[in-house]
Amino acid sequence: MVVAVVLAVLAAAVVGALVGMLVARREAEEGGGAAPPATVAMPPVPRWSDVVDQLSLGVVVAGPRGDVLHRNRAARAFDGTHVGVLVDDAVGRLLADAREGETGREVLDLYGPPRVAVVVQAAPLEGGGAVATIEDVSERRRVDAVRTDFVANISHELKTPVGALAVLAETMAEEEDLAVVRRIADRMVAEAHRVSRTIDDLLELSRIELGEALERDVVEVRDIVAGALDRTRSLAESRRTRIEVLDGDTGARVLGDLRQLVSALGNLVENAVKYSEPASTVQVRVRVDGDWVELMVVDHGIGIPPQEQDRIFERFYRVDKARSRETGGTGLGLAIVRHVATNHGGEVQVSSQEGEGSTFVLRIPLANADADAQQEAIGP
Ligand code: ADP
Repeated sequence: MVVAVVLAVLAAAVVGALVGMLVARREAEEGGGAAPPATVAMPPVPRWSDVVDQLSLGVVVAGPRGDVLHRNRAARAFDGTHVGVLVDDAVGRLLADAREGETGREVLDLYGPPRVAVVVQAAPLEGGGAVATIEDVSERRRVDAVRTDFVANISHELKTPVGALAVLAETMAEEEDLAVVRRIADRMVAEAHRVSRTIDDLLELSRIELGEALERDVVEVRDIVAGALDRTRSLAESRRTRIEVLDGDTGARVLGDLRQLVSALGNLVENAVKYSEPASTVQVRVRVDGDWVELMVVDHGIGIPPQEQDRIFERFYRVDKARSRETGGTGLGLAIVRHVATNHGGEVQVSSQEGEGSTFVLRIPLANADADAQQEAIGP
């Protein structure tokens, strides 16, 4: 039995060697026969520390005695900051435990602003050392929060109009007077439009908040103004409001997303029309101030009490819920304006006096004279 196995192994070895010889011969023939075998230069093996330096994950490697053997580039991202001190503390603690054989994890939550969340983990290495990883999860957390808010807002804000629609439909089903049925139908149409506007604004706000698809084009300020006026034309006509454009700096250009900028200025003009008496005048002024372009919307409407002026930029905050409802407001317009301003490295300011009117200023950094090159450098 043993002999048979030995023989079988030997036979296999001989057959293998023969096949190998044949293959080598065929390759030599196909390659021109007489050509000497080419020497294959082995590519240099990259240093592991260079490879680790390319990771977006922070990595700290400690030797068996606790000496730090390597800290990659990402691990140094927080150096010199308050967050950096806390991260270093956590890394030190977890590495010490890991050298004792214990795997550990800590989440550092810093409320900022800006809010920062960092996950630090450590594990033992064979031979007595340890490795720690540092992951900045702030952006992931922010995106998750936007999504959660979106769902919460949808359910909360849509409950009221959808509930109203149900009640109206039930009343209508039992109503026999045609005139009353018509009135109820009109209200149902208005509620349905409100639901649809709220959904549109929520989608727009979450798109802007998530920072998705922010174009970086050279945008003519006059195109922003023209777009905003287009958007508000029918509302202004229905309220017989005159919109005056005082365009002192027609050639001004900014770097950004035309669609977002039109949406922001459009919201400001819409509000100026909505919160003014019918047949009044609203002004849109364009001014260049140093490196900034200012898009100013001035109305002589109801104004905003001083204590409310900070809060109106929060989503769904309205000074007068009934009035906002009556004018078809969703409470999201100014939240959109503020996000667009932030996305463009700008800001929005308000000054207002009750009964006198309001002035909103959207300030956006001016594009450089060589804006086209600047755009190419940033890319789409
Ligand atoms: P809405 O859809 O209710 O207009 P916004 O976010 O655009 O929501 O504005 C929030 C609140 O700020 C409004 O409900 C209103 O009370 C107040 N507001 C905004 N713009 C003006 C303005 N030009 N004049 C007076 N009040 C304003």
